[in-house]
Amino acid sequence: MRLERGSEAAGKFALKVSNMDTIITNATVITVDGSGTIYQPGAVVVRGDRIADIGPSAEVEARNPDVAKRIDGRGRVVLPGFVSVHNHLGYSVFRGRAEDIGHDAVMGLYVPMSTILAREERALLAALSTAELLRGGVTTVLQMEEDADVSAAFVEEIGMRAALGIMASDIDVAALKQGRIVFDEAIRAAQIAQSTRLAEEVHGRANGRLTAVMAANTASTSSPELLRALRDVADRLGVPVSMHIGIGEAPDVKAVHSGAGVFDFCRDNGFLDERAIAVHCYQLEDGDVERLALSGAALAHCPLMNQFRGAIAPAETLREHGVRVGLGIDNYFSDHFEVIRSRIAVARIRANDPSVVQSMDALADATIRSAEVMGMADQIGSLEIGKKADLQIVDARRYGLAPLNDPVRTLVYHGHGKDIETVMVDGRIVVEDGRVTGVDETALIDEAARAGEAAWARFKDAHGSYVAPH
Ligand SMILES: [Zn+2]
Repeated sequence: MRLERGSEAAGKFALKVSNMDTIITNATVITVDGSGTIYQPGAVVVRGDRIADIGPSAEVEARNPDVAKRIDGRGRVVLPGFVSVHNHLGYSVFRGRAEDIGHDAVMGLYVPMSTILAREERALLAALSTAELLRGGVTTVLQMEEDADVSAAFVEEIGMRAALGIMASDIDVAALKQGRIVFDEAIRAAQIAQSTRLAEEVHGRANGRLTAVMAANTASTSSPELLRALRDVADRLGVPVSMHIGIGEAPDVKAVHSGAGVFDFCRDNGFLDERAIAVHCYQLEDGDVERLALSGAALAHCPLMNQFRGAIAPAETLREHGVRVGLGIDNYFSDHFEVIRSRIAVARIRANDPSVVQSMDALADATIRSAEVMGMADQIGSLEIGKKADLQIVDARRYGLAPLNDPVRTLVYHGHGKDIETVMVDGRIVVEDGRVTGVDETALIDEAARAGEAAWARFKDAHGSYVAPH
């Protein structure tokens, strides 16, 4: 792949790390397999990029006497890496700016910042989020963002698993501000070219760790021609499509697409069927639950983001209708354990029932079910022989985690990303002793912070405040 200038700016923080056959012994092993198997004490053997053996510790140790690297798992819990099905990695730039301004975030911050943030700055901010997510046990992300190509090199070098896509749109934002709806052909051609180039360059790279997704922002900012062109590429490469759907855009969609309903428009233009991942769905109209279920599309449920927007997707109702549901942290990058807790909390508040969504269910949502949504469940999402070695090891001898009466329940309700000691992706240790391997963390944090500050200074010059008038 061509290394973009922006990618190089972030790439210098990541050094190559290598595989070493590893056995983790005497740990509590939560497999999240189909039977909910937990080995206590258990062991896991990693050879190359795969899980070669797993089971009761004594048996696994006896079967594998000659593994090069040994990790003592006493007092530790091993579980699959988290899979986050919706992310905008460079959106860490909005940290501390977007959380209190409600629905104004999109037109007041996200859209205007997209013309201000330089590629080099986005690359640094995306690198920061990537390192943070990996440190917090997230081993796979679906990254869709403007200029997402700048995040590819760092994601590849740091060792994360990712599906990458440009978040395309072809509406003329300047004309829109003057009340005119113009889908611009030149913008469209450029977006299709950028999306296609990224997809072709990354799909299957790095031992298959990088894949592509064809993504659009919303139905109200996309022409039918744009969506159909992106879908054609998705079909050619056999990759998913993803878009924000059901986020209150229905009036705009009606206005710009001759009265069309959101779900019908998406279905008719290739963004709502078995290949599609619909993001959010927290503002649905009558019949949308059935439309989504009938379409076969999956839901990227982002409960942590939803709750701060004051609207919760009816995830349980959708699942009862047969919709596949996975979890995304979106751009609230703090801690994936918070996403799992939020998943449970918002479902219980919605149902007014304190037993809805049990802890094992929520953990499965964050791992194997999210892998299913991304079409990767045969490779990742649970700890089973033959699957990719994507896992995390939590140090359970921390404040908040003792006594470890029930490992799943204790971790789900009381765990934090900072409790994670080791993370492995594709058999490579990418977090060790709580530090991201091969990354100068202080330098990365400092440079990403400087990039964000520089962008906000220009934003304020252009718009007079930290929220653009709209
Ligand atoms: Zn989003």
